[in-house]
Amino acid sequence: MRREVDVPVHGLSETVVGVLGGGQLGRMMCQAASQMAIKVIILDPVENCPASALCHYHMVGNYDDSATVVEFAKRCGVLTVEIEHVDAATLEKLEKQGVDCQPKASTIRIIQDKLLQKEHFSRHDIPLPKFMQINDLESTKRAGDVFGYPLMIKSRRLAYDGRGNAVARSEEDLPGAVKALGGYDRGLYVEKWAPFVKELAVIVARGRDNSILCYPVVETIHRQDVSLWQNICHIVKAPANVPGKIMKLATEVACRAVSSLEGAGVFAIELFLTADGQILLNEVAPRPHNSGHQTIESCFTSQFEQHLRAVVGLPLGDPSLKTPAAMMYNILGEDEGEPGFLMAHQLIGRALRTPGATVHWYDKPEMRKQRKMGHITVVGHSMGAVEARVRSVLNEEITDDQ
Ligand code: ATP
Ligand code: MG
Ligand code: MG
Repeated sequence: MRREVDVPVHGLSETVVGVLGGGQLGRMMCQAASQMAIKVIILDPVENCPASALCHYHMVGNYDDSATVVEFAKRCGVLTVEIEHVDAATLEKLEKQGVDCQPKASTIRIIQDKLLQKEHFSRHDIPLPKFMQINDLESTKRAGDVFGYPLMIKSRRLAYDGRGNAVARSEEDLPGAVKALGGYDRGLYVEKWAPFVKELAVIVARGRDNSILCYPVVETIHRQDVSLWQNICHIVKAPANVPGKIMKLATEVACRAVSSLEGAGVFAIELFLTADGQILLNEVAPRPHNSGHQTIESCFTSQFEQHLRAVVGLPLGDPSLKTPAAMMYNILGEDEGEPGFLMAHQLIGRALRTPGATVHWYDKPEMRKQRKMGHITVVGHSMGAVEARVRSVLNEEITDDQ
């Protein structure tokens, strides 16, 4: 019998997807893959990493070790990432030998070094906070004179959850801030302080045919922990409460940023909105992202399903909201060990009793302070209703105006 459509024999795609990294993003990718019967294999050094129980195969090894990545690539139809801190030089070499990397190794190379990333987007006329490389105290003081204070000092590499950032409030703070980041040898640069009124994010998906789709603009709220020098994503609201023209501008900047990079997959674009209505790009992640977790419950196609569709070459799915409002709350470790688990479980207990709430627990082997242990997504018929539900999860009083 002649087949009218190309019906898959096993899964929706026969391509084995190899993912560098097996954290919570890899785990949620595996969950989406299971729905489509797509095989996902993982490379991660931690034996019981969050994705290990759900993937088709877990190779225990480092994604920044060349020989290991080469070995892993032999088992994959397409190679992708859930973290950008991987061995980009090896990916470039593998690509030349015909290995299919999505997004492209060039994208990973640019993104994993924040200074290169800024230079790249600046060359492509994407609006950014001003930035400058620093090598010693003298050049840092010079940057402080030019940009003023507070001054944001950032590590070029291996940054996440704000752990590579330090703020200097005045010139006297500079040596301490640089020391907190591990000194100049680590590779540092500075950014002019962005006086933002809101932080926004857009997930952009690009298919193998270069088709591009954007998710609705969301608002991200970060929690500051001065003692730990970090600024971690805590709450995401979808859609963002901003005027239509800001939505349009944010989406346009995000699309332009992704168009300047190569390869298929989803990309998360973190943005600052300033009081005078400017949109500045903060950074891009070449993979699913914390700001897109709520898409699992709130959009027709989750960011994880979309990423898989994109890298294996299936048509992209509908990114639009299927619920009027959603909010994602990160469950962060409040304490080490048992006391931390106890607090998280109390929160989860309340979430399980709240209508519209879905609990995600990443099953991380250890509880640590400020570590992302899970998240809760709450949906509802309006942002007011969603906020009231989140308050009841957090055990806070619900006021009349919610
Ligand atoms: P992520 O977990 O998103 O990868 P990261 O470690 O890469 O975080 P950044 O995104 O660079 O860190 O910064 C973390 C947060 O610090 C931002 O979301 C924002 O709140 C604040 N921030 C970063 N750069 C600036 C800036 N130039 N001016 C003001 N605030 C900033
Ligand atoms: Mg980052
Ligand atoms: Mg960030």
